Amino acid sequence: MPEPIVQITRREEFSAAHRLHDARLSPEENARLYGPCNTDHGHNYAFEVTVRGPVPRSGMVLDLNRLMAILREEIVSVVDHKHLNRDVPFLAGVIPTAENVAVAFWNRIEPRLSAFEGAKLVSLRVHESRDNFVEYRGERG
Ligand SMILES: [Zn+2]
Repeated sequence: MPEPIVQITRREEFSAAHRLHDARLSPEENARLYGPCNTDHGHNYAFEVTVRGPVPRSGMVLDLNRLMAILREEIVSVVDHKHLNRDVPFLAGVIPTAENVAVAFWNRIEPRLSAFEGAKLVSLRVHESRDNFVEYRGERG
């Protein structure tokens, strides 16, 4: 019988500052577009990474402790207590909306996860506050 397909999710948290600002726009246009988010402020972020794959003999799609280690090494250690606009090399030139942060996180960890046979990154959620989160599933268009 084929192996069951299961999704596993790891959640991590970090705190960071950011400012939503497009250097190509005037101060007035930035204020109109981004409102209060055009000034420096911070969030207690959380993000969730979901990996999908068959459950092999080991019983694990991917060892959640290894997933945790990858997320902390590639993301948390780089962004925690940093200013996302100026302190994080992999976000250089990116307007750090939750959407753009989710795509950047995906691009950073996807190569590490593709090393695990059968396990596939399928969702990356970034929570900017209790009520707002965005989800990226690797789609373009
Ligand atoms: Zn913000």
